[in-house]
Amino acid sequence: MNLNDTEIVWSILKKSGFEKTELEEEADIFLVMTCAVREGAESKIWHRLDHLRGFKRRRAISKNKNKPVKIGILGCMAERLKEKLIEKEKAVDVVAGPDSYRDLPRLLALTESGQTAVNVLLSLDETYADVMPVSLNQNNVSAFVSIMRGCDNMCTYCIVPFTRGRERSRPVTSLLEEVRHLAGRGVKEVTLLGQNVNSYRDVTEQSEPSATQLAKGFKTVYKSKKGGLRFADLLDKVSAIDPEMRIRFTAAHPKDFPDEVLEVISERANICKLLHLPAQSGSSSVLERMRRGYTREAYLELVETVKAKIPAVGLSTDMICGFCGETEEEFQETLSLMEIVDYNIAFLFPYSMREKTAAYRRYKDDVPDEVKKDRHNRMLEIYRRKCQALNEAEIGNIHLVLIEGTVKKTGQIMGRNEIYIKVVFDQESILTEDGGKRLVKPGDYVAVKITAARSSVMTGIPLYHTSIRDFYKEVSWSERYLRNHRVNE
Ligand code: SF4
Repeated sequence: MNLNDTEIVWSILKKSGFEKTELEEEADIFLVMTCAVREGAESKIWHRLDHLRGFKRRRAISKNKNKPVKIGILGCMAERLKEKLIEKEKAVDVVAGPDSYRDLPRLLALTESGQTAVNVLLSLDETYADVMPVSLNQNNVSAFVSIMRGCDNMCTYCIVPFTRGRERSRPVTSLLEEVRHLAGRGVKEVTLLGQNVNSYRDVTEQSEPSATQLAKGFKTVYKSKKGGLRFADLLDKVSAIDPEMRIRFTAAHPKDFPDEVLEVISERANICKLLHLPAQSGSSSVLERMRRGYTREAYLELVETVKAKIPAVGLSTDMICGFCGETEEEFQETLSLMEIVDYNIAFLFPYSMREKTAAYRRYKDDVPDEVKKDRHNRMLEIYRRKCQALNEAEIGNIHLVLIEGTVKKTGQIMGRNEIYIKVVFDQESILTEDGGKRLVKPGDYVAVKITAARSSVMTGIPLYHTSIRDFYKEVSWSERYLRNHRVNE
């Protein structure tokens, strides 16, 4: 999300005549995009600010002192810590929250007269729909497309609704235009972004006035949205733009996976079969305190439904350990959930209490740090062990890999398979679709036979150049997967 916000900011500044430099010595303005989700992310920014303030002081006494340095803080931390940043720390010249990026040229102009310029107002409708993000790296084969901003879910541990405001969806016409533009530029993979993408609703579009159908065992803290274009419709439209463009999406909430979403994912070869189902905890009582709107049982039932509708689907999750009041028994339920559900990817974190959240007001952050650390290590151990086994089961199978570039250390070619696992192999001239041979380059789809696996990366042998349509022409993703596994058995 922050990468995409940085591209939006850069697009706005570029239009106003600013230039970008990779060299610190050349810069007059430093803008730091920040995250407030965890304490660790904020600590990094304070360190970065220390460095930048030192640079600013040195510039002020150097031969370039007529080019004073300005420092700006953007994003969620700006919203959360504006007083501290300006009054106490006197650290920055500009503070701009996630909904104020359009105002940046004006804010920067204000600093010319020595003022500190601040805009952290949250908006009910800002989606930057008309701002075409400018990629910071034009050679990337993949891009992010923001489809919504903010979140209405109010999970008790989460600061996002306070720093990024209410949920609002970007009109479908503008984001389809952006995806078409990216396809034209040769981008091969688009990730649709938002805090809760699967509750997307474009109410500017006419459609059946259907309310969101929540699966059994799931509830929401806000009123179900009615009418407008839903996430399933959006996936359908986005994936139809270019059948050779992979579509991914993140983040999602488990409550918003109606059958229509699962059906469109299973039908379209270019929608990647990796679903992010952030569980956060495996204990119903912890989930209740987190106000996640589901129980362990409802979550497990959803996993079963997803696996039945999309055989061989890959799953990813977020997990928090050490949330307020979490007992050893409750934590054991998280471990057991991780044993039951085969997660291919997981983002595992010890709980970090954030001011303003409901948990800050209501609960005590009473799990000691060393216990959180120990639980975090135990989650990591299970995760790595299970990933190792899942990846090893792929040895001998053929995967469709989208090539991203090379591994700096080894010079090997690196790409990702359907479920976002890294696959590496040695460069080789391989068969093309027209019977010739050529080396592999970023943006190519390559059929790779897996020969070795670790918990986070697989190694293989490149077989031939291909395309999404050709690779899945005779065998769909799930059939291919099932055949592979039957052969192995
Ligand atoms: S759904 Fe995600 S972003 Fe929204 S409040 Fe919950 S954890 Fe935060």
